[in-house]
Amino acid sequence: MTSHLTMSAPTLILPERSHAIATDLRAAIGVDKVKDDYSTLTAYAVDASIYRMTPKAVVLVESEEDIAATVAYAVSRGIPLTPRAAGTNLTGSAIGAGIILDVSRLNRVLELNREERWARVQPGIVLAELNKRLARDGLLFGPDPSSGDMCKLGGMLANNSSGPHTLRYGAVKDNVEALRVCLQSGEWLDAKSYGLDDPSCVNLLEKHRSLHDLKLLLQDNAALIAQKRPTVSKNSCGYNLFGLADGLAHGHFDLPKLFVGSEGTLGLFSEATIKLVEKPLATLTALIHFHRLEDVGEAVPKLLELSPSALEVMDSNTLNLIGRAKHGIPADATATLLIELDADGAGIDLREQAERMTEICRRYRLASDPVIAFDPEQRDQLWKARKALYPTLYRFDPRKKPINFVDDVVVPVERISELIRYLEEFFAGQHVPVAIFGHIGNGNAHIIPLLDVNDQGDLEKMVQCYHEIHQTVLSRFGGSICGEHGDGRVRAEYVKTMFGPELYGLFVKVKQSFDPAGALNPGIKISDRPFTDHIDYVRLSKPCATCAKCNAVCPVYDVFQSEDMSSRGWFEIVTDKNFSYLNSKRVVEACLNCKSCRTACPAGVDVSQLILDRRAEQPNKMAGLIFRFHAQSARFERFLKLLARYQALWDRPLMRRLLDRLTKPIMRRLAVTARLSPQLVLPRLAYRQLRDRYRELIPRSGQVARSPVAYFHGCAANYFEDGVGDAVISVLRKHGVEPDLPPQRCSGTPIETYGHRALAKEGARVNLASMAGYDKVVTGCASCTLMLKDYPTLFAGEPEQAAAQALAKRVTHISEFVAQSPMKPAMASLQATKCKVAYHSSCHLRAAGVTKEPRAILAGLPGVEYVEMTDADRCAGGAGTYLVKDFDTSQRIVERKRQAVEQSGAEVVATSCPACMIQLRTGLQGAAEVKHVAQLIQEAYEAADRQTGGGAA
Ligand SMILES: Cc1cc2nc3c(=O)[nH]c(=O)nc-3n(C[C@H](O)[C@H](O)[C@H](O)COP(=O)(O)OP(=O)(O)OC[C@H]3O[C@@H](n4cnc5c(N)ncnc54)[C@H](O)[C@@H]3O)c2cc1C
Ligand code: SF4
Ligand code: SF4
Repeated sequence: MTSHLTMSAPTLILPERSHAIATDLRAAIGVDKVKDDYSTLTAYAVDASIYRMTPKAVVLVESEEDIAATVAYAVSRGIPLTPRAAGTNLTGSAIGAGIILDVSRLNRVLELNREERWARVQPGIVLAELNKRLARDGLLFGPDPSSGDMCKLGGMLANNSSGPHTLRYGAVKDNVEALRVCLQSGEWLDAKSYGLDDPSCVNLLEKHRSLHDLKLLLQDNAALIAQKRPTVSKNSCGYNLFGLADGLAHGHFDLPKLFVGSEGTLGLFSEATIKLVEKPLATLTALIHFHRLEDVGEAVPKLLELSPSALEVMDSNTLNLIGRAKHGIPADATATLLIELDADGAGIDLREQAERMTEICRRYRLASDPVIAFDPEQRDQLWKARKALYPTLYRFDPRKKPINFVDDVVVPVERISELIRYLEEFFAGQHVPVAIFGHIGNGNAHIIPLLDVNDQGDLEKMVQCYHEIHQTVLSRFGGSICGEHGDGRVRAEYVKTMFGPELYGLFVKVKQSFDPAGALNPGIKISDRPFTDHIDYVRLSKPCATCAKCNAVCPVYDVFQSEDMSSRGWFEIVTDKNFSYLNSKRVVEACLNCKSCRTACPAGVDVSQLILDRRAEQPNKMAGLIFRFHAQSARFERFLKLLARYQALWDRPLMRRLLDRLTKPIMRRLAVTARLSPQLVLPRLAYRQLRDRYRELIPRSGQVARSPVAYFHGCAANYFEDGVGDAVISVLRKHGVEPDLPPQRCSGTPIETYGHRALAKEGARVNLASMAGYDKVVTGCASCTLMLKDYPTLFAGEPEQAAAQALAKRVTHISEFVAQSPMKPAMASLQATKCKVAYHSSCHLRAAGVTKEPRAILAGLPGVEYVEMTDADRCAGGAGTYLVKDFDTSQRIVERKRQAVEQSGAEVVATSCPACMIQLRTGLQGAAEVKHVAQLIQEAYEAADRQTGGGAA
C-alpha cells in the first residue's frame, strides 16, 4: 500500500492563559463571537455526559468564514478544537480543553425541495424546529433521537444519531445526501457520493491527499473490513469504513459515510443536504404491559411483522424507577413495550392494525389490556415518560445517579430478552439498581445503572461493569458496544477491543490523515485514555442531569444561542464553587424568571429558583426603594391616580421619548439594560381603580369573610383600566358567586425577581392572613396564581408554611373555576361569524399546572373559532417587569410569538397575564387584538344576555 499516513501524533499545545487564544480569535473573526469569561467557560465545561473539561475560549460562529478561520487558527497552533451543537451527547464529545466552536447560530433551512423531498440545512437547527418547519409541507426528517426537542442537526450528523423510529427511517447515515465539510486545512469539501469514474471524483482525489489515501486504504483492506463488519442492525462505533467499502463495491466514493458519525474528529460541517420522508397521515401508539420477560422476546418478531415504525422496551427495573403508579403501569408488569404503527396513505387501516396487534398480544400473559392511543395529545403522553427516562431517573435518589457508561449496546433482536435477563441478574448480583430500556426492534438497549461515583465501592463497580458488560456483548452476543450515542470519551477506550487491533489501526490512520495536527476533537473516538479520565465527580452529586431539556424552552437561550445564556448553563454557573455575583452578574440578571425551565425539567430542578436565591444575596437597591413605596398602598395608589389623570398628556410619542431619557438614571440602577421604551404600549392607568369601582365587595376592617370566594386581583387588575378585573368579577357573578375583595398586597413575584425576598415575604404574610377564611381564592393573573401556589416554598421550614400550603390548595385560576363550576350560564347561541382566537399560554400559569382549562373554555365559546398556534407554550418575553428590565431582548423574544400569531391567522390572542398582555400588544403591533380569557368568557355571557334581552347579573 502506498499511503503517506503516519502513526505518531504531534503534541497539542495548551496555553495556560485563555486570553491569548480569545484575543487572537477576536482579531480573526470579531469581538462579539468570541467569549472567554468565567461564566461562559463554566457553562461550556459540560455536556450531557458524565465528564467536565473547561475550555479556553468559545467561538459562536455565524458563517463558513468563521468556521474556516477558527479551524485554521486551532490547527496552526495545535490547540484542541471541539465542535458543538446542543451539547446533549452522552459521551463527552462536545467538551474539550481548547476552543469550543458552537454552531448554534447557524440554524436556518437554506433550501427545501418538496417534490424531490430533500432540504439543505445548517447544523445549528434543533431537530424539533426543523420538523416543525418541514411539517408545513407534510414532510419529516426521519431519524428521531429522544432528545429531539433539544439536539441539533450538527450533533446528530456527527454522532450518526437515531431513535425509536430508526426501525422505519434508518439512522442519520441513511438520510444524508451531502455535507459541506471544513477540513483541517481550512478548505471546504463538498462531501457527497461521487461516481468513481466521474471526473469530479478524479479531481477531488488529486486535490485532497487524505481522500486519495482513504480510497487506497479501503481498497487494500477490503477483506479485513468485510470480516470485521458488525452483524447487528445498528452500529455507531468506530469510523464507518463499512459504508465506504459498500460504496466502492458499487463504484461510488460515498463520502457522507465517512463524516457522518465521525464526532467532529475529521472535519466540521457547515451544512447538510438531508433526505426527507412524507409525514405519516395518522399514527397509532400503544403500551403493552407483559407479565413475563420471555414473552417479550417471543412477541417482538411477531409484532415486527406489522412493520411498526417504532418498537421500544422498558424493563421491570425501569418501570419501578420511574414510578409505576404515576404512569399507570400495573404492579406485576415485568416489561412494557411501546409500539407505533403509521398509516402513510398506502391503504393501511390503523383500526385493523390495532386489532391485529391486540390479537398477537392475546397469545401472551399481559398485565393489563394494551393502552391504545390515536389522538396526538394522548400519544404524546404515552411517549413522554419514555423520552425523558434518563433525566427522570435523576429524581430517584439524591446520591445515586444514572450514569451513562454502558448505555448503548446492540445485540441481535431475537436475543434482547436474553440480554435483559443477563443484565438484571448481573446488576442484582452487584446490588446496583439499573434501568434497561431502548429500541428493542433494533436490538439496541440503553443500560443505565444508578451509582454514587463519589463512593469508592461504586466507582470500582462502575469500572468492573464497563469491562464485563462490553466484553459479554461482544463475545457472547456478537453485538456492538455502540448503537447510536457515539464513542466519545466514554467508549474510545473500547473501540480497539470491539474491532481488533488491525481495523483499529486503520481508524488511527484515517484520523491521522485527516487531522495530522491532532487538533480536531482529541480524546474522542480514537484514544487510549481510560474512560474514567475527566469524570465530573462534583456535578454527579448535583441534581441536574445536564440534559438541556430546559434550554429548549428557555427564551433567553432561544435568542442568544449561547450556553452561558441558557438555563442549563445557569445551573452550572450558580452552583459552581467559584461563583460570585460579581463574576456572573451579567448572566444571573438575564433570567426572566419565566419558570419554563422548571415546567420542562424531568429531574425536578428549578433553575429559576436557584437564580432567585443568588439574586436574594444581592437585592437591587433601586427596586427595593420602589417596592417599599409600593408597599405603602395608600400613597402609592394616590401617585398612580395622579399619573392616570394626566396619562393623556405624558403617554404621547414625544413625551414618552422625553420620559425615557429622564428616567434613564433611575432605570440604570435597576439594570444596565433597563428603560421605559417609548415603544412599550402601556395600559391605561385607572383613575378609579378596581377597588374603588367595587367598594361593595370589600369587607370592612375586622369583618370576617362574607363570601366563600375571594378574588385575589393582584396589582395589574386593580391599577389598569383594561377590563380584566371587571371581567373576572362579572364571570364569577354569572356563576352565582359574589366574591369578596379582601385587603391584599403584591403577590411578590416582581419583588422576588429583584432579590427582595424579605419584602416579598412581608406582603405574603398579609395575603396569608387576609385570604385565610375563604374556601376558594380566585385569581385572574398568571403570576399571582403561581406565586400564591408557591408560598409554601417561600416559607419553607418557617412557621407560615402550613398556612401557605393550605392557601396553595385553595388558589383557583378563573379558567379552572369556570371549568369546575356546576353552573353553566347561558352563552349566545351559535353565531354565524366566528372570531379566530389563539391562546398564548402564560409561562407562570403553565408552571401552576393550568394548561387545558383555558383552551377547552375558549374552544367551547360560541363566537370563537379556536386555533392552536405553534409555540403557544413558549414565553413571549414579558415576564413581569422584564420588558422594562431589558426591552430589547424582550422584543427579540416576542418576535417568535408574533410569527406564530401571524401564521395562525388569529384575530384575537387570549391570555391570562397582564405582563403578557402588554408584551403582546407591544410585539404584535396591532396584528391581532389581545384579550384576557375572562374577557372572552364575559363577552359570550353578555352576548347571551343581549339575545335573551336579559341584563348582566
Ligand atoms: C435525554 C436524552 C435522550 C437522548 N436520546 C437519544 C436517542 O434516542 N438517540 C440518539 O442517537 N441519541 C440520543 N441522545 C444523545 C444526543 O442527544 C444525540 O447524540 C444528539 O444527536 C446530539 O446532538 P447535539 O446537538 O446535542 O450534539 P453535541 O452534543 O453538541 O455534539 C455531538 C457531537 O457532534 C459534534 N458536532 C456538533 N456539531 C458539529 C458540526 N457542525 N460539525 C462537526 N461535528 C459536530 C460534536 O463535536 C460532538 O462530537 C440523547 C441524549 C439525551 C440527553
Ligand atoms: S435543569 Fe433539568 S432540564 Fe435542565 S439540564 Fe438540568 S436536568 Fe435537564
Ligand atoms: S426562568 Fe425562564 S429565562 Fe430563566 S432560566 Fe428558566 S427558562 Fe430561562
